[in-house]
Amino acid sequence: MNPEKEWKRISPHNHTAAYSGCSEISPLNLIAGSAQAGLHGLIVTEHNHLWDSEELSQLKQRAVREKLCPPDFLLFAGREVTATAGGKTAHALVFGYNGNIPVGMDLTALCNYVHDRNGVIVLAHPCRNSGRQIERFWEYPADGAEFYSQNQQNPVMKQLTARYRPNFALFGSDDVHKEEHIGHFITLFPYWVRTEEDLVEAIRLRSVRPHEIGKKIYHIQ
Ligand SMILES: [Zn+2]
Ligand SMILES: [Zn+2]
Repeated sequence: MNPEKEWKRISPHNHTAAYSGCSEISPLNLIAGSAQAGLHGLIVTEHNHLWDSEELSQLKQRAVREKLCPPDFLLFAGREVTATAGGKTAHALVFGYNGNIPVGMDLTALCNYVHDRNGVIVLAHPCRNSGRQIERFWEYPADGAEFYSQNQQNPVMKQLTARYRPNFALFGSDDVHKEEHIGHFITLFPYWVRTEEDLVEAIRLRSVRPHEIGKKIYHIQ
């Protein structure tokens, strides 16, 4: 069995300078760097902002025209929503729901809000801040969590996951804010993922795997 045909290598957590003030990378450089790293696609997840689908499609067309990525490169948009959990700031990646989401909701309420609107939600770097950003993160009604992230101490996450084995879709994420963050932790999606609906379905089915492909550069933002 050829694993290249079984899985799509997708970077699911990326910020660009277009809509995330903390990011230094342009949307075109993000696409170019990801394609060069051998990825099949990426998801832009700006802080509390969703790319307009027409704008995203124009970006993709331009990247293809400039030969920065192949025509079948997958470019999706979700967003990283700021919430609160146990009195602390928490971040979660939301996919498949394009309407308004209030910033700063309680994390449990946010999970329910997204599910009521047919979206899926993945906890971002729950073990950041010495493993304590989202206390008892496995108890939240989310669809998944980042198992690998360049933005958390991964051994902590591994220990917790081994111990509690949550029924989560586990992600690997670079949480890209600059070019050198690209190509370290990714998420493997099933080969049949082509559309945003497929992407959401794969997460809902927990048919994804975290994957480590390179030397880590941990960064905390
Ligand atoms: Zn974050
Ligand atoms: Zn992020």
